[in-house]
Amino acid sequence: MIPIPILNENRIPPWLQPIWDSLDFDRTPHAILLHGQSGIGKFAFAMELAKGLLCETTGSHRPCNHCEACHWFSTGNHPDFIALVPETHRKLLPQADFENDEAPKRSKSSKEDAETDSNEKKEKKNISIEETRSAIESLSIGSHRGGNRVILIYPLELLRPDSANTLLKSLEEPPANTIFLLLADRVERVLPTIRSRCRLLAAPRPDRAVGLSWLKGKVTAISNLKLTDAEIETAFDEQGGAPFAVFDFIVARRNKDDKDELTLSIAASRILLQAMAQGGHLPWLETAEKIHKAHLAYLLATMQRWIADLQAVSRSGFPRYYPRHLSTLQNLSQQANELKLLAFWKSLLQARRAENHPLANRIQLEALLSQYQQVFEG
Ligand SMILES: [Zn+2]
Repeated sequence: MIPIPILNENRIPPWLQPIWDSLDFDRTPHAILLHGQSGIGKFAFAMELAKGLLCETTGSHRPCNHCEACHWFSTGNHPDFIALVPETHRKLLPQADFENDEAPKRSKSSKEDAETDSNEKKEKKNISIEETRSAIESLSIGSHRGGNRVILIYPLELLRPDSANTLLKSLEEPPANTIFLLLADRVERVLPTIRSRCRLLAAPRPDRAVGLSWLKGKVTAISNLKLTDAEIETAFDEQGGAPFAVFDFIVARRNKDDKDELTLSIAASRILLQAMAQGGHLPWLETAEKIHKAHLAYLLATMQRWIADLQAVSRSGFPRYYPRHLSTLQNLSQQANELKLLAFWKSLLQARRAENHPLANRIQLEALLSQYQQVFEG
């Protein structure tokens, strides 16, 4: 393992550094659209950039972390920083450190309650229309501290059409000293009219070695979390090489005091992969026996990724999640019955939909693994 220094001041991961270096701080565009796969650090990048644009120490192209503006920003109180994010993403913002965002659990007694809940959930995943409108309206008055003003919107593709139109109008006639930092996981879903008014920055996914080295450094910095390199690597590949996503996953588990569950899920996922690599020789009963105590959603996600890779390889593509198993995947794709593979994929989707009220895990895993094994029986 190559240790990398963790500087509190630098939140820009090495693979996004070239983008940072490409920015001209003396002529910052009024709208930047940073796009790329989720979980690779776009949000961290945007927060650092927002802080840097608001920092009041002159001549610095990085937030100084000492001035009043940096202090306001770090505590989530900078009056010229507006973040439009859905409730589900608010924990990413600095002020979340001071809030208890754990909502009290309510018991669902009737169907009506359940429906309200699901509507609320939908609401939480969207950027509020009212917030967008009032944020944009507030731009007509000058900035509070007389310097820049930064509006961050993420995920941009979740902006509802009327909010998108409001935004578009501001982009057409940008208010003075206002910088829009727009983030999108899927830039193709952003209105072309918005895209064309932004400076587009494509955030790359790190190559495996760089991403892993960053991740290992971050995980090692958490003292009471002892994961082996192999466990970290498995989790990394599982998340499609998105280091921030893996890190969040690991931290979330730690916060829940579920470190044992995480280790169990990672170990079970390795057993599952080794078993699936055997195709038609998969010992399904034995495998289900070994893994059924792990988190079902985690196992199903592993199967989905494996199948996605298998499908990619059979279309002469490259595996995204398990590149190290390229030759195994190639062998399997030659043996697989396409129709059966498709049917198995559908079974997986069905199982995922029901994963929150699982039937007996073991029985379900046995059924799935046995179906998978038959894919390779011609
Ligand atoms: Zn500063």
